[in-house]
Amino acid sequence: AEADLRCQVLVLGSGPGGYTAAFRAADLGMDVILVERYPVIGGVCLNVGCIPSKALLHAAQVIDEAQSFERHGIRFGAPQIDLDKLNGYKDGVVRKLTSGLQHLAKQRKVRVVQGVGTFTSPNTLAVQGEAGEQHIAFEQAIIAVGSRPVRLPALPWDDERVMDSTGALALRDIPGRLLVVGGGIIGLEMACVYDALGSKVTVCELSDDLMPGADRDLVKPLEKRIRGRYEAVYTGTRVTGAEATDAGIRVHFEGGKAPAQDTFDRVLVSVGRLPNGAQIQAEAAGVTVDEHGFIRTDGQMRTQVPHIFAIGDVVGGPMLAHKATHEAKVAAEVAAGHKSHFDARAIPSVAYTHPEVAWMGLTETRAKKEGIAYTKATFPWAASGRALSLGGEGGLTKLLLDEQQRVIGAGITGPNAGELLGEALLALEMGADVEDLALTVHPHPTLSETLCFAAEVAHGSITDIL
Ligand code: FAD
Repeated sequence: AEADLRCQVLVLGSGPGGYTAAFRAADLGMDVILVERYPVIGGVCLNVGCIPSKALLHAAQVIDEAQSFERHGIRFGAPQIDLDKLNGYKDGVVRKLTSGLQHLAKQRKVRVVQGVGTFTSPNTLAVQGEAGEQHIAFEQAIIAVGSRPVRLPALPWDDERVMDSTGALALRDIPGRLLVVGGGIIGLEMACVYDALGSKVTVCELSDDLMPGADRDLVKPLEKRIRGRYEAVYTGTRVTGAEATDAGIRVHFEGGKAPAQDTFDRVLVSVGRLPNGAQIQAEAAGVTVDEHGFIRTDGQMRTQVPHIFAIGDVVGGPMLAHKATHEAKVAAEVAAGHKSHFDARAIPSVAYTHPEVAWMGLTETRAKKEGIAYTKATFPWAASGRALSLGGEGGLTKLLLDEQQRVIGAGITGPNAGELLGEALLALEMGADVEDLALTVHPHPTLSETLCFAAEVAHGSITDIL
């Protein structure tokens, strides 16, 4: 078919990968079209992921903190929750960001085309939109189609009481009893929200540990808190099936300490995400998609077709927004003729639970499995004045070091752990050693000092002015 539109760079998908790539390519002087199936740009992260979940987690934190202060002499009473207003707050945060993106696209003359894109050749894409089919001819393309939640087939998905993360974020009601299937980051974040809002939460995780992948000492403070608060936390337990009944969703369990069955008002399934690579007819462009739906790339984010790039959740690795945005810049720069490479030494992970759990670089779990040598320096927050004064005494800051005492990994748990991890990341990227961290004057009293203190422990210069 004759092309309706032409561009130098076509970006398929408008999540953090896609919009970043489109904007970077435009800033480098390229003529860009951004294709998105939904009427709003921003992808999973802005619309049904990172941002709305953090808005709700903030609300949960306000409730948790207010409640926990009762024992210190300030009582607020039970929260009265207006769900419409709470949803309005969350949606308002999202709307500000997505409309900001529209504005940034316009400013850069990035043309946004709405519709579902499928490749028809190595240089053409068909877009099926409300106005019918359009054909776009491109010189180069960047695939950023992201991922979607895995749907466990054993559950009755036609019943609205069974939800994925998108459904859980819509916050239609506060269920009396909520089952969260999957004890990874997303499941535990949503559990945290519903617990604070008043649901009785049960978490069911297939593996023997919550938040698999993170070191146990980092997860422990979170695990201790939720085992004390939630109705039940089942590890090593599989959901084998479920039926919709008038009384709720009857779920069957196998293994662990779970009963054979139990009935819940709602079930949230958060057992992982699947890449969207198999739905775009990449083969018409000559791009191979593996059996899971991932697209492989080289260090410049090129697929095996040199003028077609792929970035974000669809290329594998940690499915995180900050990985997508950094890959996006590389792809856009390479498309514009620059010699960029994706060369991050670490991609951080953060669970914005209460308390937060954050880690980056080498973990002890991996070091032990792969026989990687390291030493560690830890600083328990029970010895930090700031942590004590904000109820974070269960926290922990941990540095993993190589033979030269350079930072090769870090883990932090406690309030604001995600924010604090930035310093450790910079240390790792800069090749900083414990002396660099220990001799840097940190403001007192702050949680950031815990990094300095951990470094002092390793450096042998720990002071006692806590
Ligand atoms: P996506 O954001 O998935 O965007 C892909 C876009 O492509 C979508 O808009 C989709 O509609 C569009 N698309 C797909 N196929 C087509 C097609 N054929 N035609 C047109 N358009 C198409 N990550 C973090 O880093 N921090 C967090 O705190 C965090 N929290 C999360 C919380 C939840 C509940 C969820 C679900 C995810 C969270 N993530 C978080 C993960 C993060 O959202 C993803 O890693 C990120 O969105 C991936 O970006 P992307 O650009 O690869 O793809």
